[in-house]
Amino acid sequence: MRRTIVAGNWKMNGTLAGSVTLAEDLGRKLAHRLPNRTLPVLFPPAPFLLAVAPHLRQSGIAMGAQDCSAAVAGSFTGDVAASMLRDVGCSHVIVGHSERRHLHGESNDVVRSKAAAAIAHHLTPVICVGEDEAGLTQDQLEAVLREQVHGSVPPDVVAGSFAVAYEPVWAIGAADSASVRHIDLAHSIIYSTLIGHLGTGIADATPILYGGSVNSVNCTDIFSVDTVGGVLVGRSSMNADEFVALIAAAENRRQPAATGGGAVRAE
Ligand code: PGA
Repeated sequence: MRRTIVAGNWKMNGTLAGSVTLAEDLGRKLAHRLPNRTLPVLFPPAPFLLAVAPHLRQSGIAMGAQDCSAAVAGSFTGDVAASMLRDVGCSHVIVGHSERRHLHGESNDVVRSKAAAAIAHHLTPVICVGEDEAGLTQDQLEAVLREQVHGSVPPDVVAGSFAVAYEPVWAIGAADSASVRHIDLAHSIIYSTLIGHLGTGIADATPILYGGSVNSVNCTDIFSVDTVGGVLVGRSSMNADEFVALIAAAENRRQPAATGGGAVRAE
């Protein structure tokens, strides 16, 4: 069986007490319907990871960090190593979110090094790509996504060791998500780029998530797209009812296609 990923990025929001309350709340709401066909993953702010970890574990929610260093250890003031994130219970880490690319000038090379560091420390990197502007032609979209995937995904990965999140920057924090047609097109481009870059076996094992204004209303349409292996949500992950509704929609979706952005296999 393949599991659909429902990933929630809390970004730089909330308090320690509020984060623990939200995690406890999710635990209560999921107590009688633990996800089965879905892999939920939450990405709290780094200082709150240790406090929310036991609550998420109880609810069957995996935990991830929002970024990691490319370096192993040493004089990197303010940075957090992948091994440290693993130590506090993370299984995943977001790398190359557009906010890091834009606000911190992270290039594809930096993102690729971070993804490699994450994999080396047994974390699953969620490698984010996506065009800045709406309304690109198909050729332009293809050129942007191919360059980002080639530049950001390490060339020596093994199957199932990473995920890709397609997040068009113009749809993040917006009123509406991208259209399902656009999502399907972008995911198909990413899938065929992965085949060219790494081969069919690895491409088939790589979940491709969509992110950008996903909510409990539009998620059913988004989950109806076979090339969608999951979603990466910001605002909708800060509210327990909303996040639980996303998980419920993922649980109820028709089985995704076996290839092309397929979701992860359950162990
Ligand atoms: P949003 O954020 O769901 O609030 O649009 C998505 C993201 O930045 O990953």
